[in-house]
Order: sequence, then C-alpha cells, then structure tokens
Amino acid sequence: MFPKSDYHLHTHNSGDSTVPMEDMIETAISLGLTDICFTDHLDLDYPHYDDLPDGAFDLDVEAYHKELSFYRDKYKDKINIGFGVEVGMQTHIAKENAAFVKSHPFDFVIASIHLINRKDPYYPDFWEGISPSEVLRDYFRLTLDNLLVFEDYDVLGHLDYLVRYAPDCFDAYSYSKYSDEIDAILLHVIKNDKGLDFNSKPLFKNNTAPNPHPDVLRRYKELGGKIITFGSDAHKTAGVAGAFDQMRDIAISCGFNEYCTFKNRTPIFHKL
Ligand SMILES: [Zn+2]
Ligand SMILES: [Zn+2]
Repeated sequence: MFPKSDYHLHTHNSGDSTVPMEDMIETAISLGLTDICFTDHLDLDYPHYDDLPDGAFDLDVEAYHKELSFYRDKYKDKINIGFGVEVGMQTHIAKENAAFVKSHPFDFVIASIHLINRKDPYYPDFWEGISPSEVLRDYFRLTLDNLLVFEDYDVLGHLDYLVRYAPDCFDAYSYSKYSDEIDAILLHVIKNDKGLDFNSKPLFKNNTAPNPHPDVLRRYKELGGKIITFGSDAHKTAGVAGAFDQMRDIAISCGFNEYCTFKNRTPIFHKL
C-alpha cells in the first residue's frame, strides 16, 4: 500500500471520535505505514446541536499533546508520529485560531471549513430551502475569504468537502462549474507555498470522488501546485489509509510524482 503516510487522523481528542490513539497507531503499523500525523479538531465557536455537548470541538491541547508525546516515544522504532491539528476556520475567529496555532509546537496544521454561516452542512436541515449549487459557490468564496485572514496553516483541508453532504451532489458539482472560484483558491494556496490535503474519506466510505475532486487536483498541478498530503480523515481504525492505493493512482494520473509529510511545519517530499 502506498503512500505510506496518513496525514489526517482523528482520535478521542476530537469531539466526533471515541477511538483510542493507540488503536490508530497499531492499525497504521499493521498496514505498513511509516508516518502518521494526528490532526484532532479545533472548531472554536461551534454552534449548539442537540446531539453534541457544547464546546464539543474545543480541543484540550495539553492533554492531547501529552498523550501523543507518550505514544510517539513508545512507538519511535516503528512509526513516525506527527503532532497536528485540524483548525476549523471562520473569519470572525481567525485571530484566535492564529494565536492557538502559534502557541503550540505543531508539526502540521490543516485549515478546514466545517461551518457555513455558523451552520454545519453535516446536518440535513442546513440544506432545507437553499439551492445546493449556490451554496457551493458561496462555500468556495468563503474558503478564500478565510484563507485571506488565516495564514498559519500548511494544507487546506478537504477542498470541496461540502459536496460530501450536498443532496444529489454530483449533479450539482463539477470543477468547470466553479472554476473561477476554485482557481482563485488554488492560486492563493500556491502563492503562499501551502498545500492541499488530498482526502480519501468519500472514496473510501461511499466510493465517490475524493476531496478535492481529481479534476481540481489536476488543475492545482497545472497551476504550479506541488505540496499534497494524503489523508484518510479516519475517526475509527477501519478508515486508516482508506483507499490509499486508489488515491495514489489518482494523484499520479493528475501529474504528481511526490507527496509530503511535515516536521516542525516544514514539508518533506517523498516519491510516489
Ligand atoms: Zn474536516
Ligand atoms: Zn478531519
């Protein structure tokens, strides 16, 4: 199985996972991975939903770092374990997010959008009474708005993530339909020497296109993009490195021959 690094993994430190960190590590080792990075959620000012406790996506970063340091040492002869975080962007909390990232010794930071106008598209009521194609356009614009005010990240998380939850998503979505908005995001990422999280979750779970869609990944390469990380976005052991063999083929077909891991916020390139 290639690539041998999974750079988007969650544990019980995330509000939407209960999996022990050690179980994820053991699974990664059993799959032959050499590098993993935990990227537990920080989503400040996440709205109230009845099925979640308030502050579910606040991160107890001290406890998380302590636990990770323990296992990093315990497994140091078997696998490299990065200390990462997935920061949920909202423009009004960009300063708090930047201060948070700066004050902890992360190896890797994913910047993601999980909320649109303070609502989570995961919940079906988000989609009531709105046009999926218009909200997708708004989402891409909002992504760029966020990147303009939050700069301290390494890769943009699961670009086109909203498609995962859109009703009849693949009728509403194609790169060409949103090329202006998507190109603006890609050019911004490239200009700032950042990268993309190539996220296998929809491919693994539903056999639908990864995030971003291969047409978007190909466009990123055409525009000069170099940095990609492979991420399963697993919240359970079953998803670790999910569909990575197919992901590798897709990345190669889009023109990539390298992928990255990160150490101390610096990319390390590996052959695909
Ligand atoms: Zn995410
Ligand atoms: Zn994630």
